[in-house]
Amino acid sequence: MKADYGWNEPYRAAILETDDAKLPHRLKAAKAAIDVRLHQWQSDHGGTPEERQAISDALAGLMGLRRELEARSQSAVCRICKRPIPLEDCKLDENGKAVHESCYVEAVLRLVANRSKAEQEPGA
Ligand SMILES: [Zn+2]
Repeated sequence: MKADYGWNEPYRAAILETDDAKLPHRLKAAKAAIDVRLHQWQSDHGGTPEERQAISDALAGLMGLRRELEARSQSAVCRICKRPIPLEDCKLDENGKAVHESCYVEAVLRLVANRSKAEQEPGA
């Protein structure tokens, strides 16, 4: 038998939402409903181990959804680490490809390190 918790409905609405424009609101509503439940636990009974497990699964699910949504709504994906880039951290490399500033700096440092190594070992 599957227990029906108060936060189930907003949670299901979030995981079943297919419209990216509505998803942020659904995620917020589901998270809020779970927060309310967690708050209740602190004041009265602590809920069942089953519900606790269900909540931790639900929170992980919501986090995954949020990451997917962020990834979809980002137009830029880092050429180096393949992760989405927040607009404020977006840099273009020498080929005009989007990269994280930190990834780009690392790549340049690696390149410089390799080059100076090659210079020290001529004919290697
Ligand atoms: Zn990166």
